[in-house]
Amino acid sequence: MDFSFPEPTEAFRTELRQFLREELPEWWSGIFGDDERMFPFTREFCKKLAARGWLTMAWPKQYGGADADLWMQMVVREEMWAHGEPRGPQYMNLNYIGPAIMMFGTPEQKDRYLKPMANGDALWCQGFSEPGAGSDLAAISTQAQDNGQSFVVRGQKIWTSYATAADHCFLLARTDPEALRYKGLSMFLLDMRTPGITVRPIDSMGGPVEFSEVFFDDVEVPYDCLLGPRNEGWMVAMSALGYERTGIAWHSSTETVLDRLIEYAKTTKDENGEPLAKRQPVREALVRMHVRTRAAKMLSYRVISDQAKDVTKDEDPAIAKVFATELGVYAGEVGMEILGSKGQLVASDPMAPLAGQMYGHWVHSIPMVIAAGSNEIQRNIIAQRGLALPR
Ligand SMILES: Cc1cc2nc3c(=O)[nH]c(=O)nc-3n(C[C@H](O)[C@H](O)[C@H](O)COP(=O)(O)OP(=O)(O)OC[C@H]3O[C@@H](n4cnc5c(N)ncnc54)[C@H](O)[C@@H]3O)c2cc1C
Repeated sequence: MDFSFPEPTEAFRTELRQFLREELPEWWSGIFGDDERMFPFTREFCKKLAARGWLTMAWPKQYGGADADLWMQMVVREEMWAHGEPRGPQYMNLNYIGPAIMMFGTPEQKDRYLKPMANGDALWCQGFSEPGAGSDLAAISTQAQDNGQSFVVRGQKIWTSYATAADHCFLLARTDPEALRYKGLSMFLLDMRTPGITVRPIDSMGGPVEFSEVFFDDVEVPYDCLLGPRNEGWMVAMSALGYERTGIAWHSSTETVLDRLIEYAKTTKDENGEPLAKRQPVREALVRMHVRTRAAKMLSYRVISDQAKDVTKDEDPAIAKVFATELGVYAGEVGMEILGSKGQLVASDPMAPLAGQMYGHWVHSIPMVIAAGSNEIQRNIIAQRGLALPR
């Protein structure tokens, strides 16, 4: 088994890195930064990626892709996450919203929604979680009632990432209130400019752009926005979530953190004038991070290898997600310890070591053990589907 990428794939990585060096502005601190230039920049950046055929390269040509293999796409994913994900929220289009439309959409829906995604022109958010439904997603109560002319949506979503900037929402709603739980749900492709939608940002550790609550007051949704069969939205949501969980190259962002910490430890002296890199606990923590990052990468490659063969497993994406997100938290904690109290200074503070990026990584690594299905839920999946333990 050869774990290295073939030469053309590595050459592509080099080209992509050069492109990133040229395109990323000095102020860029990553998708989780709170700079108001972030969303406009990511839109422009995605258009440039699209113009080179790199935004949706693993999509079929007919939908604006380049029929590239998933490993090329993995290189894009790795390089983007190593650089703070300059595609912004559009990584979700490519990873699971677009593929769900390819799988379940009508020809007209594919035409309407996939082209703007492939051109880097569409920003989507995911409207699944509600105040009473997160891990237990089948408990959602937002209703989409058929009034004979269209659906009328009433209810509330929460923790909706990027909702303040989104053009569309991938919305799960209840179309049959009489049916049992997951049986009466449907998926909608909703225009966020439809009257009756209110987006209210939630203040969090992550800053102002991370989450919002979204309220739906008698929002009229045309029939042709229903994705897949009516009352079969659970199937659509589950197929999308499988890809969402592995759509982020966490190991790449940890690799970046590790590189920065190594450099910092080598160039920063302790009170005895010795580089931090000579201290045993620092060395130990960095080595541990390095080993775990390698393991996270291999777990992620294992999932891609199955996807490339069209094999779907529930257990492996769950293992990869748990391991990589918990490694992210570990990397944040190690970083904060090595940097000491100064590590808490944010990016806008000129005294912040590593331009505040360590703090940013740490703060944003913590919610990732909850996002896209909490790690407890992933462990349940591993227990039941991987180890055949009883529910
Ligand atoms: C960074 C981030 C981004 C997000 N973005 C979006 C988004 O864009 N769109 C969207 O719809 N949602 C989004 N979410 C919401 C996310 O999907 C939910 O937070 C998650 O599914 C957990 O649901 P909950 O918050 O309601 O917690 P709960 O389901 O109430 O869980 C609370 C705690 O109980 C544990 N728990 C629950 N059930 C079980 C069980 N059966 N066994 C063991 N433990 C259990 C959970 O693991 C958790 O620790 C985001 C969340 C985060 C953190």
